[in-house]
Amino acid sequence: MKALDQLNYCHTYADLGSAFGTHTLPSALHEPYLIHVNPSLANKLGIDITRTKRQDLIALLAGQRLVKQWQPIAMKYTGHQFGHYNPDLGDGRGLLLAEILDANNQKWDFHLKGSGQTPYSRQGDGRAVIRSSVREYLISAAMQGLDIPTTQALAILGSATQIQREEQEYAATLLRVSPSHIRFGHFEYLFYSGQHQQLKTLADYVIQWHMPFIDNSPHKYLQLFQEVIRLTATMIAKWHAYGFCHGVMNTDNMSILGLTFDYGPFAFLDAYQPKFICNHSDYSGRYAFEQQPGIGQWNLSALGYALSTLIDKEQIEQALQAYPHQVQSQYRALMRQRFALKSEQSDDRQLINQCLSLMETHGMDFHHTLRTLAETNADHWSTLRYPPSFKLWLNLYQQRLGQDYPDDQQRQQTMQSVNPKYLLRTHLAQQAIEQVESGQFTVLDTWLKVLENPFIEHDCDPSWALPPLPNQKGIGLSCSS
Ligand code: AMP
Ligand code: MG
Repeated sequence: MKALDQLNYCHTYADLGSAFGTHTLPSALHEPYLIHVNPSLANKLGIDITRTKRQDLIALLAGQRLVKQWQPIAMKYTGHQFGHYNPDLGDGRGLLLAEILDANNQKWDFHLKGSGQTPYSRQGDGRAVIRSSVREYLISAAMQGLDIPTTQALAILGSATQIQREEQEYAATLLRVSPSHIRFGHFEYLFYSGQHQQLKTLADYVIQWHMPFIDNSPHKYLQLFQEVIRLTATMIAKWHAYGFCHGVMNTDNMSILGLTFDYGPFAFLDAYQPKFICNHSDYSGRYAFEQQPGIGQWNLSALGYALSTLIDKEQIEQALQAYPHQVQSQYRALMRQRFALKSEQSDDRQLINQCLSLMETHGMDFHHTLRTLAETNADHWSTLRYPPSFKLWLNLYQQRLGQDYPDDQQRQQTMQSVNPKYLLRTHLAQQAIEQVESGQFTVLDTWLKVLENPFIEHDCDPSWALPPLPNQKGIGLSCSS
């Protein structure tokens, strides 16, 4: 275990050259204070945070100081935002500070979000507010706990620097950790700006560092694209099975490694509502929950087009055809798990779909309903307070489960292991933000413990396991952060 300034630092991305970004220094925040460090992530990375003096850690996260080996760079990328190409994107409020190689030779990026203006800031101030940083900090742990691929967050810092949003707020930083921060938009930038040699360099770089199993064959770029399709399909199938709504699936927010990335106005479904739109600025519902699998395909097509100097167009089309089946089959497998269906039977899909449509009709909570069934002996389901049509469905479901489980105890255990008791629901994230803003940082200790393993019972506020009350619903989320 090492101190932060003794890690095995490298800067393979910065070494790629000036086409890929601009060397930029963070701008210091005033009167910074540490809000939290994620101890299990630090441990996983081989960092002993206690070996770095608190004041040094704060200075690093506040952009007041750099570790000697860091070479901060603002990455250049572009992307399609709400379907329209925007050539002016890039790290506008964050910097890739450095990369480390951990004890297993796995490379991790350290990215400081909220570190000040860069050449890609446009009119923005380069900053991030506390509320969005707390949300990203917690959701990163939550997604990890649900086994949904995600970037991670090592630390969060607040300051007295004031920034203007709808009202004045305080600036924060978040130290984001991920094997890579390369987005679909990195490739789109190099393609649309005609830097095709550099596009090849970037593709080779991704293969070298992240997909070393790809042979050095003439088909290697097709294999790279196929791997991105596979990873993206897995991520979106998991979002769908766990009711996660990203909110801003622009191609600049799509990770080349299929990680959930650039958290903004995300939300988990409370009531099962496939048409749910979590981003109040998404007027047309382009990124509504049920649109996400299709948008994944749209985004992969945009990436395929950007790779068309490296891969034959017909091969791109053919590779894309694999995606819908990959998403569907993984989604179905996950839902079968959530419903604890062991043996395969022809009308299983219909049984699951009937349940979802009843939940939708009756405005029932997606997660709490499944967790309640997981925690209640099937013989007592008839006593639960559900609408009559849902009770009829429960009879069918109970009969179906009886074929797989002679012992209902085993069915309950199986269901509890995949249906979370706790979720970072929007109203709960809001409560956590308010507590952090009032200086109660230790609430994050409990939240991290709960979210890292949301399938078991924790010693926490029991309301964390419940859906929102009527007055806790409808919190507005926008891109403003
Ligand atoms: P996002 O909607 O967060 O994915 O951001 C889209 C683009 O706007 C990216 O290029 C960001 O770096 C940039 N951006 C977002 N917020 C700010 C900000 N406060 N200051 C500068 N750039 C920003
Ligand atoms: Mg973004």
